[in-house]
Amino acid sequence: MHIVFAASECAPWAKTGGLADVISALPKTLVKMGHKVQVYIPYYRQVAKAVSKAQVVLPSLTVPFPSYNRFARVLDGGIADGVQMYFVDMPELFDRESFYSTPSGDYPDNAERFGAFCRAVLEATKIIGVPDVFHVHDWQTAMAAVMLRSIYYFDPVFRKVPAVLTIHNAGYHGWFPPRTMETLLLPWDMFTMDKLEQYDQVNFLKGGVVYADAITTVSQTYAQEIQTAEFGNGLEDSFRRRASDLFGILNGADYGEWNPETDPHIAGHYTAGKLAGKQECRRDLLHAFHLEDISDETAVIGVVSRLATQKGIDFIVDILDRLMQEDVVLVMLGNGEEYYERLLPEMAARYPGKMRVQVRFDNVMAHKIEAGADIFLMPSRYEPGGLNQIYSLKYGTIPVVRATGGLQDSIHERPDGGGNGFKFWGYDSDALLDAIQRALATFRDKKTWTAMMKRAMAEDFSWEKPAQEYVRVYERVIQNRSS
Ligand code: ADP
Repeated sequence: MHIVFAASECAPWAKTGGLADVISALPKTLVKMGHKVQVYIPYYRQVAKAVSKAQVVLPSLTVPFPSYNRFARVLDGGIADGVQMYFVDMPELFDRESFYSTPSGDYPDNAERFGAFCRAVLEATKIIGVPDVFHVHDWQTAMAAVMLRSIYYFDPVFRKVPAVLTIHNAGYHGWFPPRTMETLLLPWDMFTMDKLEQYDQVNFLKGGVVYADAITTVSQTYAQEIQTAEFGNGLEDSFRRRASDLFGILNGADYGEWNPETDPHIAGHYTAGKLAGKQECRRDLLHAFHLEDISDETAVIGVVSRLATQKGIDFIVDILDRLMQEDVVLVMLGNGEEYYERLLPEMAARYPGKMRVQVRFDNVMAHKIEAGADIFLMPSRYEPGGLNQIYSLKYGTIPVVRATGGLQDSIHERPDGGGNGFKFWGYDSDALLDAIQRALATFRDKKTWTAMMKRAMAEDFSWEKPAQEYVRVYERVIQNRSS
C-alpha cells in the first residue's frame, strides 16, 4: 500500500508535542510492514536550519489564491528507515520564528499557511506519486481531506483516493473568519453547519471530520469522550454523526528513541533485570537541576509537559504547598502558556531545595527526567493519547495520572499495588494529592515498588499493533471508495 502523510510536525525536525513523535514513528513501522510511505511537512525555518542542503524535487507548484498565485517548492528530505520525507517550501509562510504562533498569539494567516500547504501536498503527489490513501493529522492538514472532496472533486486521479484524518487533540480546531472560504477558493455552499461552518466561523477540524473517509483518534477512551459535550469542544455532534467511521487507536512508543537500555541522552543504561543504571540517571538528573544531597528515600517526581491548562498544571499549583510537606523533590520541564511560565518558577523559588523548574523545550532533558525520576506526574484535564506516560513505563518511572483518554487506557492502578501506576478521577486536586500519597506509600515499600517498576518496564507499547490497526482502517476506506 502507498500512504502519503501530510502533517504539521515530525520529529526530529519540527516538534511541539506528541504529534511529531507519531509522525516520525508510525511511518517507520508501516514501512517495516512492507508499505510505501511518504511524509510531507512544511519547510519551517527550524527544518531549514537542521537540514544543511536539501535537493529540489519540484521547483515550482502553483497554489492559487483569489487574485494572485503562490508558489511552492518541494525539497527532498531524504529517506530514513525507509520513509521518504518531503519538505514543502513556501518561505513567506513558513520561514518564521515559530510553527503556529508568537507569544502575542496565533499567526493571523494560519488559514492561508496550512491551506496552502495542503494544496501544495495534493499538487505534489500528482507529480511525485498519488497514494492509495492520504493520512492527514489535526486541523492543520484536515483541509486536504476537504479539498479532495470539493475543489479536487473532478480530478480523476483523486476520485478513488480516500483520506484518513487522525485527531491528536480535539481541543484545537483551526477557527478562521468566513472570508477564509474565499481565500482558499472553497465554494460558499460548504459554509453551512453540516460542513465547514461552526458558530459563524470556518472550522478546519470540523471540515476534516465531515469529509474524511475515516477518522481516528489516539486512544479508545478519547474516541468515546469526544462524542460528549465535556470533551467534544462543540464538535461532539459532528463526531457522533461519524461514530461508525471513528476509531480509537492508542499511540505506540518508538523504543528506538525511548529505551533506557540504549538511550544516548541518559547517564546510565539499565533494564528491568539490571536497575543499577537508573540510580546513576537519578543522580545525574538531580545534579542537572542543582538539587544536591537528596536522600535515596526521597521520591523524585518529574513532569515534562506543555504548560497548558489541558495538562492539569493548575492541579499541581493547587496542591503544591501540601506536596512540599512530603518527602519529595519536584523537577519540572515545560513551556507554553505565559501564565505558567511565570508562576511555576516563582513557586519553585519558595522551595529552593525541593522544587526546580526549567522553562524551555529540551529533548535531552525530557529523556533525563524520564530516566531519573521515580514518579512521573501527568494530571491532564484531558489527554487524547499521551506519550509521556508510555515512555515513563519503559523507564520504570511510575506514572500518577488523571483517568482520562489515553491515560485511562494505558495506566492501571490496583489496590494490592499490582498495577503499573496511580490514577485519580474527577477534576479534583485533592484526589491528585491522594494518588501521589498512595504512590509515595508504595515507594517506601521497596519490594512492591521494584516489582511495579519491573512490571511497567516489561509492558509493550511498541508501534506494531497500532500500525496494524491503522492498516485495517486504510484498507477499509480504500475498499469503500473503490466499490
Ligand atoms: P502533547 O502532544 O499533548 O503535548 P504527549 O504526551 O502526547 O503530549 O507528547 C508530548 C511529547 O512532547 C513527548 O515526547 C514529550 O517528551 C515532549 N515534550 C513536551 N514538552 C517538552 C519540553 N518542554 N521539552 C522537551 N520535550 C517536551
